[in-house]
Parts: sequence; C-alpha cells; structure tokens
Amino acid sequence: MKHLTKNRKEILEIISASKKPLNVKQIKTLVDFDTSTIYRALDFLESLEYIHSVIFDNEKYYFKDKNGNFIICNSCRKIEVFPVQSISREENILKQEFGFLPLSHIFLFKGLCRKCNT
Ligand SMILES: [Zn+2]
Repeated sequence: MKHLTKNRKEILEIISASKKPLNVKQIKTLVDFDTSTIYRALDFLESLEYIHSVIFDNEKYYFKDKNGNFIICNSCRKIEVFPVQSISREENILKQEFGFLPLSHIFLFKGLCRKCNT
C-alpha cells in the first residue's frame, strides 16, 4: 500500500470498518475535516482501487470490498449488505457465452425492507 496522508488513511479506515457502504454525509459525521477534503480523499482512494463505489438515488456510496452485494429499501432508503456464496455459474456463463472476463461485481436489489413490507 502506498503511503497515505493522515486524512486519507483515516477515511480508508472508516470505510474498511463500516459494515455498510457510506456516503459523504455519513463520513462527514465521523471526521474533523471539511467536505472537500473528504471528496478529494475518496477520489484518491478510489483511483487506487482501495475503495469502490455505487450510486443510489444520485448519491455515491463507498465500500471496501471489490464486490458489492446490497439491498436497498425503496421506502426508508435503508441499505444493507447481504452475503453471496458463489457466482461461479454466472461467471462461467459470462466467460463462455459473452467472452467476458468478470473482474468484480455489484449486486443491488431494490425492494422493501422487513419494517416497510409489513
Ligand atoms: Zn424500509
């Protein structure tokens, strides 16, 4: 890992420790520096692929793992991560039928969470 400034390191640690993807607003509540510093740090970390992102509702969310598996509630906007065991069948189809070499994936399921669908 390349040398990171203190701010970048702190943001990387926050995202690494988080169980859920985080947006800038959420990160802002956890650090002492300003929003533009956060944006710059996130861009930098993402350019080196230390973190990854996904956009929900025009809001960018950052997460650590290369692959993202998310469920988001259409009603309360709650985001959760769900476990994916294996997608080797899908990867084989991509390779064999599309000649495509998958490097990472993001699964995003939209729906209604337990609270909102009862
Ligand atoms: Zn909900």
